[in-house]
Amino acid sequence: MSDHIDAGKSFDVIVVGSGAAGGFAAKELTEQGLSVLVIEAGRSLKKKDIRRPSKSKHGNMQLFPRIRATLFGQHIQARVAFFSEHMRHLFVNDWKHGYTTPKDAPFMWIRGRQVGGRLHTFGRVLFRWSDYDFRGSRGGAVGMDWPISYTDLAPWYEKVERFLGIAGNIDNVETAPDGIMAEPTPLTPEERSFRTEVQTRWKERQVVAWRFNPHDGERIPSALRAAIRTGKLTLQSDSIATTITTDPVTGRATGVMYVNRQDKTRHVTQAKAVVVCASPIESLRLLLNSCSARYPKGLGNSSGTLGRYFMDQCPSLMFGQWPASHREGPDATLPVHPLFGNTGGLYMPRYQNTKGTCNPKFPKGYTYQGSIGRHDALKTEAPTRAVTIMAFGEMLPYADNSITLDPRRRDQWGVPLPHIRCSLHPVERNMLRQQISDCADMIEAGGGKVDFCVSPLGLEEKEGGFFPEKSSLTRWFLRKMFPKSMVMGAAIHESGGARMGNDPATSVLNNYCQAWDVPNLYVTDASCFPTGGALGTTLTVMALTARASHHLATELKAGRL
Ligand SMILES: Cc1cc2nc3c(=O)[nH]c(=O)nc-3n(C[C@H](O)[C@H](O)[C@H](O)COP(=O)(O)OP(=O)(O)OC[C@H]3O[C@@H](n4cnc5c(N)ncnc54)[C@H](O)[C@@H]3O)c2cc1C
Repeated sequence: MSDHIDAGKSFDVIVVGSGAAGGFAAKELTEQGLSVLVIEAGRSLKKKDIRRPSKSKHGNMQLFPRIRATLFGQHIQARVAFFSEHMRHLFVNDWKHGYTTPKDAPFMWIRGRQVGGRLHTFGRVLFRWSDYDFRGSRGGAVGMDWPISYTDLAPWYEKVERFLGIAGNIDNVETAPDGIMAEPTPLTPEERSFRTEVQTRWKERQVVAWRFNPHDGERIPSALRAAIRTGKLTLQSDSIATTITTDPVTGRATGVMYVNRQDKTRHVTQAKAVVVCASPIESLRLLLNSCSARYPKGLGNSSGTLGRYFMDQCPSLMFGQWPASHREGPDATLPVHPLFGNTGGLYMPRYQNTKGTCNPKFPKGYTYQGSIGRHDALKTEAPTRAVTIMAFGEMLPYADNSITLDPRRRDQWGVPLPHIRCSLHPVERNMLRQQISDCADMIEAGGGKVDFCVSPLGLEEKEGGFFPEKSSLTRWFLRKMFPKSMVMGAAIHESGGARMGNDPATSVLNNYCQAWDVPNLYVTDASCFPTGGALGTTLTVMALTARASHHLATELKAGRL
């Protein structure tokens, strides 16, 4: 490979990655008048890449598309809970994008490499976090405090929500603060009856509708489009960042070295500051790979915590039946997108260990996200409707759960593969048992029935419930497939590894996601999270990124960087 310094091409800021974090970094920085280069490893999408979900003959399970994807190199991506044929090309090929794990701690790393990253495949559910998350130790609870509180982030949540336009309601739930909602979103009749049953029996539990960002069918996500409109953005796809370059004397970041995926040439582009937004595992890999004589343990790692305290949320998935409510026909109140069909569902923010209580078996909690009667709404005569509920439990940060560089294996660009260790501890196992049993209680208490549940603890089948209509061969296959699909990583809410903090001795970043060791280096994806939460990570990533980018722009313009 030839090395090429892009002489003359220097930017105010280089942003690595163009997903949720990279898009909002580019938007905020260009709107502040800075020249920005976004380096994206994946390709630019074409209009035809945004496909309408077909009325598939393969049903919701998508069994044959999953088998086909597995045979063609997507053996990990094909296990994602809501995998579907029309989105297959938006997930990576696992043969080409390897990683390693310990044998006893499998991890499903689900990702997409394209302009927009996983914004093209994500569930679009966007909830704010609360001080139950940011002030983890409040009320003497076990947990860690972030160096910021809800008050610091609230204006940035608001800015992001106003820009995106969120569908959702005002719910008054303490653990999921209300945001700025552009349009209301309804529950189905069955979701409403589920809500009534749950809230009558368990006063502390709240069932609300999803808050989500409706799909706009565009191939470039809206934040990046806003950055492009400023005329200050250079968006460079097919460019894989391999190292952040630094000045050996001052220690400052000077730019990014990257490989052109098409012609395999190696380039270095310079900038006054670098923002790393490649998603947690890739960002940590990049920082660890950017070691030098001055930074022998990786860039920004004087604390020795880089790569440590990696987390994902503890997933479980339950299928069942709920008594059908009377309807004349399909539910006309549900929002239906012309391209993407109906969306939305029910959501239960965290209700455990709040209001001063602390369960001795696990100090945090879990959220539920699912739907009842959305996918079989046309079966007007059926006595029951399908229930699908996924739960996301908060994992505690552990120093031994980490991202490191595999000492033996490298990718085709010569960069060491990431080694991912994300193991459950007894606290997470206790929590998983309770999150599964709470979910079953809620379904059964209202006259519903659980068919089966799957989690990192294994598959639990109820008698007669596990796809009785399928052939025995298909049932055998599904029994094999399901437990492998609900290991750690399946929540796709990974975080940590470059945590923010108040003390440079125990954290990588300060309260503005700025590296303690390298002031002109910012890391704003979820790797900056000190704790992993139980709500989706993406809205918080967007808000933190906008806040950090604003800080960077202010510092740069004031000549302090
Ligand atoms: C199926 C699915 C459903 C989900 N549902 C939800 C949900 O409903 N709510 C929620 O909050 N979250 C959800 N998520 C998670 C959400 O997608 C992520 O939190 C979010 O996309 C993270 O944004 P990011 O910018 O950090 O990473 P990404 O979106 O992954 O973007 C990172 C980008 O960086 C690029 N990149 C990586 N390495 C390099 C490199 N070395 N050089 C240059 N570029 C690089 C990648 O190609 C990618 O485009 C879901 C995810 C999936 C896959």
